[in-house]
Amino acid sequence: MRHILFAFALVLFASQAFGQQVVIRNPEIQQLVQQVNADSLKKYTEKLASFHSRHTLNTDAKNGMIAAQNYVKAKFTEFATKSKGRMTANIEEFVVPGDGRRIVADAKVGNVIARLPGTNPNDPRIIVVSGHLDSRNKDVMDAAGAAPGANDDGSGVALVLELARILASTEFPATLLFVAFTGEEQGLKGATYLADKAKAESWKIEAVLNNDIVGNSSSSETNISNNTVMRVFSETIPLAEDERGAALRRSINSDNDSPSRQLARYIKELGERYVDQMEVKLIYRNDRFLRGGDQTPFMRNGFTAVRMSEMNENFLYQHENVRVENGIQYGDLPEFMDFEYLRKVAAVNLAAAASLGQSAGMPQEVKIDVRGLTNSSTLSWKAPIHGNPKGYYVLMRETSSSMWEKKFYTEATQLKLPYSKDNYFFAVQSVSEHGTESLPVIPTPLSR
Ligand SMILES: [Zn+2]
Repeated sequence: MRHILFAFALVLFASQAFGQQVVIRNPEIQQLVQQVNADSLKKYTEKLASFHSRHTLNTDAKNGMIAAQNYVKAKFTEFATKSKGRMTANIEEFVVPGDGRRIVADAKVGNVIARLPGTNPNDPRIIVVSGHLDSRNKDVMDAAGAAPGANDDGSGVALVLELARILASTEFPATLLFVAFTGEEQGLKGATYLADKAKAESWKIEAVLNNDIVGNSSSSETNISNNTVMRVFSETIPLAEDERGAALRRSINSDNDSPSRQLARYIKELGERYVDQMEVKLIYRNDRFLRGGDQTPFMRNGFTAVRMSEMNENFLYQHENVRVENGIQYGDLPEFMDFEYLRKVAAVNLAAAASLGQSAGMPQEVKIDVRGLTNSSTLSWKAPIHGNPKGYYVLMRETSSSMWEKKFYTEATQLKLPYSKDNYFFAVQSVSEHGTESLPVIPTPLSR
């Protein structure tokens, strides 16, 4: 494996000159990615959209939100049978206080969560894959009217279900959490509850892959139809940044290197490695313009989170009442979705989540030596706390480049490169025995 990895690094390095990209897929992850199925996703979505309304404040146990929660929990429980008793599913209920805005009075609501514990009991890392179960129509306070929410966000929940189905039988060191949030449309209530709890209990959430509106491939108004592009939104300046963090960011110019941005790059790299005919477009904002999503409360609490979404939204179907007006059909119905597209978005999520789960974890105390004036760059780091990596990649890119451009493989915990830190950005990621990379960590200055 050592030689293979080394050869891989050399090939990557050499191939730059020829403009070629070498695609090496880990067979285990490739095999998982291939299991993502458009028909399963369609079935889940149609079932979710068949409930009359999944409004957060809807309490209909037969054909409303409660029934939908029970459905998601039942699917999680069904998939858990493949986990040798490891995966558990529950509806985590809590009271969301009335806020005089989108929550009229105190209400008991619930997130539906499946938890697949890691195989290493000493490894605290948690990877979250999420979507929101609640839906809405034009009037966000209408808990009784029809709100099928097929794409917003039946698509995200269907994706979460499909990943739970496929990953239930895997044995990765890190814990995977599959979450169908409530209360997104009422002000990110379910995600806020879980993110606050995770912070209070010091959970080691390494990544939140939030999926909201991921199953349509053609736009209203501009009539663009393209099922080969998706978006991943990542924050630029961390919402949780304090004064010290801001000072460090300004001094090392890491404005384009937030942990969330590293995760977005990772998703693009891994997603495009394993999923054909899909481009992952990095959007340098934490959500669509002036809008938000369930990743936001996690960012606020200092966790690394991104939002994934389709490239071309159709606003005839989003937050609209189901109706025909002037011959035009409105409403968020499954017939307007593209399940082959949703399959690819789910596959990108799976490639990233499985790789994170299988990885050896992030290197610690990553430093770049600034003790002398040199035209080389020396990076040093320590092994991940819990994993046992085979080696490391030192990543490098031009300061004007969006993605990491070169990977240098080493089995040491220090590397000197004949490239000036004045002209490039660097980071370090661990490489597991399977060849799977961790999230990259950017260096801080080693000045004494
Ligand atoms: Zn949504």
